[in-house]
Amino acid sequence: MKNAEIIAVGSEILLGQITNTNAKFISEHLAKLGINVYFHTVVGDNPKRLLNAVKVAESRADMIIFTGGLGPTKDDLTKETLANHLGVKLKYDDQALRSIENFFQKRNRVMTENNKKQALIFSGAHCLPNDNGMAPGMFFIKNNRTYILLPGPPSEMEPMFTTYAIPEILKRIEKVEQIESRVLRFYGIGESQLEVELEDLIDAQTNPTLAPLAVDGEVTVRMTAKHVSDDERKLLLDQMEEQILARVGQYLYGYGETTLLNEMGKLLKENNATIAVAESLTGGLFQEEVTSIAGCSKWFKGGIVSYAKEVKINSLGVKKETVDKYGVVSEQCAREMAENIRKLMDSNIGISFTGVAGPGPLEGKEPGTVYIGLSFKEKPTKSYYMNFFGNREVVRVRSVKHGAWLVYN
Ligand code: ATP
Ligand code: MG
Repeated sequence: MKNAEIIAVGSEILLGQITNTNAKFISEHLAKLGINVYFHTVVGDNPKRLLNAVKVAESRADMIIFTGGLGPTKDDLTKETLANHLGVKLKYDDQALRSIENFFQKRNRVMTENNKKQALIFSGAHCLPNDNGMAPGMFFIKNNRTYILLPGPPSEMEPMFTTYAIPEILKRIEKVEQIESRVLRFYGIGESQLEVELEDLIDAQTNPTLAPLAVDGEVTVRMTAKHVSDDERKLLLDQMEEQILARVGQYLYGYGETTLLNEMGKLLKENNATIAVAESLTGGLFQEEVTSIAGCSKWFKGGIVSYAKEVKINSLGVKKETVDKYGVVSEQCAREMAENIRKLMDSNIGISFTGVAGPGPLEGKEPGTVYIGLSFKEKPTKSYYMNFFGNREVVRVRSVKHGAWLVYN
């Protein structure tokens, strides 16, 4: 089985009344089985357009999966349309018919003829029982092409697909190529620079494939390997990772779903070190992010939001002369903030953020100007000048990330 297409039938999807979660669900499962899904199609409850969609799908897919339109009402046309097109007869499935009859008996209701219609399946098809509703699904093969028909309601479709359809699919693929992804996370390198460094690897990619992505000042590279054996997939990923890290390893900070602050926290914990923070333009954002990490009490001492000049002087002990001479947006002020908070909270590391979040300038300095102070017990206190591009929120978020990166290094 080489590739699949999913056809969701239902005018309500086209009208925007419901989201096509069925396609998402099926795609996720097929990806795990190593089956490529090349197209998602959505078509309304209209036999002519459905037939067209089927013909298009047949021209490009080996497996076509339908959801919706298996019910008892007039607008449920999937089965009839497809039976006509494939030239197959419909016959009652005894078991499905019994379970529909039971359904009505239990509820003391009369079964109408159109309900019986739900138990019709293609002659020669394998019936997929519906444990959560009435209309059964179908697994049918013709001319080497697989047709899978599933009901529309996710509560019926999802269990039917995993319990009954997937085992049928597995019977027909000898070796299931599984895919496995690994995400490398980088900071301090732009997307275009990363692409330049990895250009030949990206151009030559086959297995694993490489997908760089830039979000919020970070770049990730997703490697995806395909193979039947777990070990071989791991080896393919390891080999590619080694090649990537040989070029841009100095920017790597983590794998998968982690964050810079998370990794900073792990490192502090490993080293039995603690950190305290003095925040100005970030207004507590660093502390907010840190305290959302479970277990941070092991390495986070606390912080002061010293937004106003007087608070920097009175609560944090920044020298008045420093502020008068250099301003609060200065490397001198950042250094004193970092050093003083470290001493005040008796931590190993003190970090500080002072700068101009925008939109207007401050002390004649442009928005995006940020100084991050970093003070270690054993080393001279340093200050790092940054110029972030973006609105107020972006400048604040970038500042916090950059601070975490400085500690991490
Ligand atoms: P029923 O027996 O309930 O009529 P059916 O197989 O005929 O089932 P439809 O009539 O097409 O299916 O859809 C029934 C309901 O299932 C829709 O109103 C919608 O809530 C849900 N549904 C249908 N298709 C999708 C889809 N692609 N993604 C998510 N939900 C869907
Ligand atoms: Mg219906």
